[in-house]
Amino acid sequence: MHVWVRVETDAGITGLGECVHGGSAAIALIADLERRLIGQDPFAIDALFESLRRSLVFEGGFAGAFITALTGIEIALWDLKGKALGVPVYELMGGKFRDRIKVYADCEVEPGLDFDDAKRAVDEILEQGFKALKIDLDIFAYGHRGAETESFVKDAFNMTPDKWEYGRMLQLAQMVSELAGPEVEVACDLHTRLDKHSAIRLARDLEHLNLMWLEEPIPPENIDTMREITAATSTPICAGENLYLRHGFRDLIEKHAVDIIMPDIPKCGGLSECRKIANMAEIYSMPFAPHNVSSPVGTMASAHVCASIPNFLILEFHWTKRDYWSTIIAEKRDIIEDGFIALSDAPGIGVTLDEEVARAYQYPGTTWFS
Ligand SMILES: [Mg+2]
Repeated sequence: MHVWVRVETDAGITGLGECVHGGSAAIALIADLERRLIGQDPFAIDALFESLRRSLVFEGGFAGAFITALTGIEIALWDLKGKALGVPVYELMGGKFRDRIKVYADCEVEPGLDFDDAKRAVDEILEQGFKALKIDLDIFAYGHRGAETESFVKDAFNMTPDKWEYGRMLQLAQMVSELAGPEVEVACDLHTRLDKHSAIRLARDLEHLNLMWLEEPIPPENIDTMREITAATSTPICAGENLYLRHGFRDLIEKHAVDIIMPDIPKCGGLSECRKIANMAEIYSMPFAPHNVSSPVGTMASAHVCASIPNFLILEFHWTKRDYWSTIIAEKRDIIEDGFIALSDAPGIGVTLDEEVARAYQYPGTTWFS
């Protein structure tokens, strides 16, 4: 579900933001926070964010839907400020290090799929010109379950893959790496599927494929165990899509528990916060590769952060199979071309909603900017 946030001012300028994975809780919180924004200076973005966050600490304002709700507001404030000053958001963040943002495509391929179907899905992504892609190597995490797994009895909560499942992981990674060829990067996501030993074994068994990264082999909450996995293999380990704020990333970065961090910018604290997270990672020689499942609004907002930091690696794009994705913006252009987002000099985030088109996809039971 895409949650869009609009901030209006008495000067007639509006800002558009997005937040993800906050669900109906974030929608309710945004409505509740609205009254606290009335009469405030919309340019004081960091101060507004921090004052609202501190007002929520007793309710849990350290993570989760609270932070995600604030994030949607924060992004709308950046869009508003850019429009008011007539500059793109990246100009307000110190300018850009690059003119275009490299994007990888999630293929929605996992080892339970028929491999001919998986091959077709990967070929489609390659035909679209992407220079990097991601597959899932987990079958059971988060309910992922392909047709070929149906005849196997399996404990969906056990963290140790059996011989069949482990073999499928290796076969899929090998097949997709060969399809991608010598230039297209491949990342593999495990959605916290494994125990420590299985994670180390798999990461080592995949070393010859030179993956872009192996993602979240175990839950990221145990930083020390994640660090043991990272230290045991030359396959780069990436994590962080479910962490919030600088505080959530501090140990991961300072302990070198991963090789690459992947904050979800429209979820975990917004543009200012994620620039700070990226800067923390930079001084530990750690690349920044944001998770992204947003609409074009949150994706473009993320791109401004990616432009304004030196250690940007690549940004995710998850919705190659959703034909509506680019149609919901008023600019009527493909945001992603040949695997890159070209930054424009349009003020603010640089995209606005075509509300008539977007409303056709409105989630039942939700409100429209009320
Ligand atoms: Mg992931």
